[in-house]
Amino acid sequence: MGLTPAETRARARLLMRRAVLSRAGQDRSEDPESELTRIEAALRRIDEGRYGICDQCGSGIGAQVMLENPAATLCGSCLATHGHQSA
Ligand SMILES: [Zn+2]
Repeated sequence: MGLTPAETRARARLLMRRAVLSRAGQDRSEDPESELTRIEAALRRIDEGRYGICDQCGSGIGAQVMLENPAATLCGSCLATHGHQSA
């Protein structure tokens, strides 16, 4: 998409922060600390060039999935096959 890695990282951090904030207060079963831990893990994935790549099948995770869950590590079909993420 013509974004530099730094731009991708900044953009993802923004998206993830927004996702966390929008979920805070809605889902009280989710510990904000563990959510932030997942975000940091996702940011490391960006550094490693694996961001947006499914852990299970290695194909690209759809943009829609990444928007809904910016820290996603599974693509939509693997998510459907394997249920919720355990990470
Ligand atoms: Zn997959």
